[in-house]
Amino acid sequence: MTPEFSEHPACPKHTDSMVPHTFELEEVALPHGVQVFRCPNLSCSFFYATGAMKGFYTFKSSGDLMPHPQGSV
Ligand SMILES: [Zn+2]
Repeated sequence: MTPEFSEHPACPKHTDSMVPHTFELEEVALPHGVQVFRCPNLSCSFFYATGAMKGFYTFKSSGDLMPHPQGSV
């Protein structure tokens, strides 16, 4: 049994626990099974993805998620 993803990642900038986020279908295409979290600060553009996309991302105004190396903020 693989445990469900149970820990919320923390924003590398604000150290706040991130919250689950759902993209609109036409916003970002995510691989199946990827869960996305975002910073609770609405002005913050940090995201965290699980599964195949595991890692931190920043959301660009162009609509792309850009990989962000963790800890180098
Ligand atoms: Zn943040």
